[in-house]
Amino acid sequence: SDALKTAIVTGSNSGIGLGIARALAAEGHNVVLNSYTDTDDDHALAREIAASAGNETVYIQADLSKADQSRMLVDKAAERFGSVDILVNNAGIQHVAPVEEFPTEKWDAIIAINLSSAFHTAAATIPMMKNKGWGRIVNIASAHGLTASPYKSAYIAAKHGIVGLTKTIALEFAEAKLAATCNAICPGYVLTPLVENQIEDQMKAHGMDRQEVLDKVMLQRQPTREFATVEELGGTVVFLCSDHARQITGTTISVDGGWTAL
Ligand code: NAD
Repeated sequence: SDALKTAIVTGSNSGIGLGIARALAAEGHNVVLNSYTDTDDDHALAREIAASAGNETVYIQADLSKADQSRMLVDKAAERFGSVDILVNNAGIQHVAPVEEFPTEKWDAIIAINLSSAFHTAAATIPMMKNKGWGRIVNIASAHGLTASPYKSAYIAAKHGIVGLTKTIALEFAEAKLAATCNAICPGYVLTPLVENQIEDQMKAHGMDRQEVLDKVMLQRQPTREFATVEELGGTVVFLCSDHARQITGTTISVDGGWTAL
């Protein structure tokens, strides 16, 4: 089972997904990058990773707000590489508003992309894992899969939901006697482009400088007062995909600087 594997990382042309894709590529695995766009930059990114890692990396466009495209992503990856052994469900979006003002279309999009897409990609991938008797599914949840904050109802509902989906898939893998696991990683704040953009907005909203926003607004719930990094998330996924992690299944791993210990 130390042979080369094929990995899909959803939502991986940016941020955490890209960090995870780079880490899996560095292990030599075939890697499928994905997002909803289909630009020259997306394909150039795949070529850059392949050139530096010496692996095969391809970019496959799929809009994961749609069930059929979520399943098609898995089908296209399997056509290209023969099967899918590692599935990392990472794609996600955020919207912040009180429940009574939360736009219905934002609720629907967040549930579709952050939760339902993981169900569809897993459903399309599991038969291949059953065939091989080996598999790894890693869902990128959040500290908000275990705790809540105001004004993030859809995100928190989706992230709690994906933790439940994770446990169920793990139990079905165990029933089927597969050397397959399913876990969720729960990051605290990670300094991705997404979060970087929020810093500017928060500086304006609070009349604070960058450091004040980081310390008093963003890292206020993260006891280490440090961001987790995309490299640390990549390393955690690589570990979960290793044979040492065989008995880690149906659980969550927090990479949150102590957030959920408070
Ligand atoms: P990001 O915006 O940098 O990355 C999100 C990725 O999802 C991008 O590649 C984007 O193109 C893709 N995506 C968005 N909508 C899509 C769609 N419809 N179809 C396909 N792909 C789509 O953000 P990130 O911070 O790297 O977030 C990645 C994951 O990590 C998300 O699930 C997020 O909830 C989770 N997370 C992030 C943090 C953090 O602090 N950054 C903390 C906890 C959890």
